[in-house]
Amino acid sequence: MLSTSYICTTCGIQYEASALPPGRCIICEDDRQYVNSNGQSWTTLDRLNQQYKNIIELVAPNVYAIYTTPSFAIGQRAHLLITPHGNILWDCITNLDLTTIDLINRLGGVKAIAISHPHYFSTIVEWSRAFGGVPIYINGLDEKWLVRKDTAIQLWNEQEFDLWDKVTLIRCGGHFPGASVMYNPAGKGALFVGDTIQVAPDLKTVSFMYSYPNLIPLPKKDILQIEKAVKNIDYDGMYGAFGRYIKRDAKAAMAFSVERYLQIFE
Ligand SMILES: [Zn+2]
Ligand SMILES: [Zn+2]
Repeated sequence: MLSTSYICTTCGIQYEASALPPGRCIICEDDRQYVNSNGQSWTTLDRLNQQYKNIIELVAPNVYAIYTTPSFAIGQRAHLLITPHGNILWDCITNLDLTTIDLINRLGGVKAIAISHPHYFSTIVEWSRAFGGVPIYINGLDEKWLVRKDTAIQLWNEQEFDLWDKVTLIRCGGHFPGASVMYNPAGKGALFVGDTIQVAPDLKTVSFMYSYPNLIPLPKKDILQIEKAVKNIDYDGMYGAFGRYIKRDAKAAMAFSVERYLQIFE
């Protein structure tokens, strides 16, 4: 029987190939996500290619946002960071088509993929293979959420993990035990934050949640851990996963926001 790597329509994560769709989605059944109130449903990458297109948008020098229109599943963005020694795909989206692959190759391709946390596992294995089987870096503390395994996946277990050109992955924890951010020190420095630091709509402050869809906050100790993880680096910009960016003074925005959060806990 033909087997297919099915994709959950609510979180956009692709599972190990199977003849029939999986019975359940462990990512969506977790408190941080939700099962669609109409019930669990599945799709395939071929079907997505027919229903959706991707946009590749230059959002800062050497930074491209990649996102799907209309929005699919969680609706996050990936970012392609162009560096002298090879491009890094930070986080990932589910829809991957020939146009996207061609355009990214014209920008120099992808040398590695780094993922902030399990909600953005999407179709990482497809993306890795499309660019020659490049490594996919994931923090080892989130290994149990990998629902499609592949030899390209490389778990890192340090507090900080260096890629190249001084670009570093930093484990913050909080939203997930292995939730990480990516630091690019070029220019005045920038943080790519996934979900564990969330840029607020004013583009001047940030917040931190255990679950965004279910509105479950994080305990104080986790917020202090996130603060500590990025305290000793200098950054001016911050790139959120939903197109909200702090263009300058992001470090001050982080300090102000942590203080605001802690005052509420007093
Ligand atoms: Zn799901
Ligand atoms: Zn998340």
